[in-house]
Amino acid sequence: MSGRHSKQDLERTPDDDILRKLEGHWDKSPTRALRWRKKVDVRELDCNGTPGWDGDRDDAERLVAAHAFELAQLQERLFAHGRSGGSRSVLLVLQGLDTAGKGGIVRHVVGLVDPQGVQHRAFGVPTAEEASHGYLWRIRNALPRPGYIGVFDRSHYEQVLVVRVDGLEPEETWRAHYEEINAFEAEVAAAGTVIVKVALLVSRDEQKARLRERLDRPEKHWKYNPGDLAARARFGDYLDAYQEMLEQTSTDVAAWHVVPADRKWFARLAVTELLLDALRSLDLGWPPADFDVAEQRRLLDET
Ligand code: ATP
Repeated sequence: MSGRHSKQDLERTPDDDILRKLEGHWDKSPTRALRWRKKVDVRELDCNGTPGWDGDRDDAERLVAAHAFELAQLQERLFAHGRSGGSRSVLLVLQGLDTAGKGGIVRHVVGLVDPQGVQHRAFGVPTAEEASHGYLWRIRNALPRPGYIGVFDRSHYEQVLVVRVDGLEPEETWRAHYEEINAFEAEVAAAGTVIVKVALLVSRDEQKARLRERLDRPEKHWKYNPGDLAARARFGDYLDAYQEMLEQTSTDVAAWHVVPADRKWFARLAVTELLLDALRSLDLGWPPADFDVAEQRRLLDET
């Protein structure tokens, strides 16, 4: 949220007409507009674009605010479902180059729901213990429990991104990961998890502007990592790695979505909509009481 919308806005169910008008700025469902398709080449992507969306920033922020209510409601249903022995969960996988805005997505989009129902995990360079296991070990340990929304800030995909670009494994080893990952995700999906994979794509120029801002503002120095320049120098190699990752691992049960991220407001709108769609697809009602409601009411009255 930009701060332009009060808490009250978030809690109010939006007027149907206004909501329909805002939703009408999508020319197809956001999921369809953003789902990676074979002809999408991230090396040629307009990172400043807003595919499928013809509204402006204000419309986008109003739609996020309007959908926040439903998002929070559906997350609560998911949580209740988990508490009642259900097996469903959602996993949001966020991949993006440095400064693509993963942190902002977590704050502004995931932050719209009750944090008690979220399992957030950021994956950095593997620790000594993590490195002593296979690369999926730490990933499995972080999968969302039933009823939860899991958020991966970076993920197992680093094994075909940084590992490839920095030559940390021989080619035949990292290439084998595509199939391993597809099999792993199919297993996770079959166990009841809806997987939403998002590649946030920032342009080279915008990345430079964001890094410069971190240098210019003392309160952002903590975010600056001199090592980011080495990754930036290999920007093209990363895009090649992203392209092949999309080609090899966008599957029916775990499709990739490509989100242009130069406009933060669009990336936040896009991920809000993708998460909402995932929660809607679960089609969960409120779990029925496993006690006699009338009897409990009577007993309560007696107290
Ligand atoms: P971010 O840029 O995501 O905000 P950060 O700069 O705070 O993160 P960390 O979270 O400590 O840094 O670690 C991220 C770094 O870890 C990235 O450079 C990423 O490429 C690296 N990394 C993640 N997974 C792996 C892996 N499996 N092997 C090697 N490096 C990895």
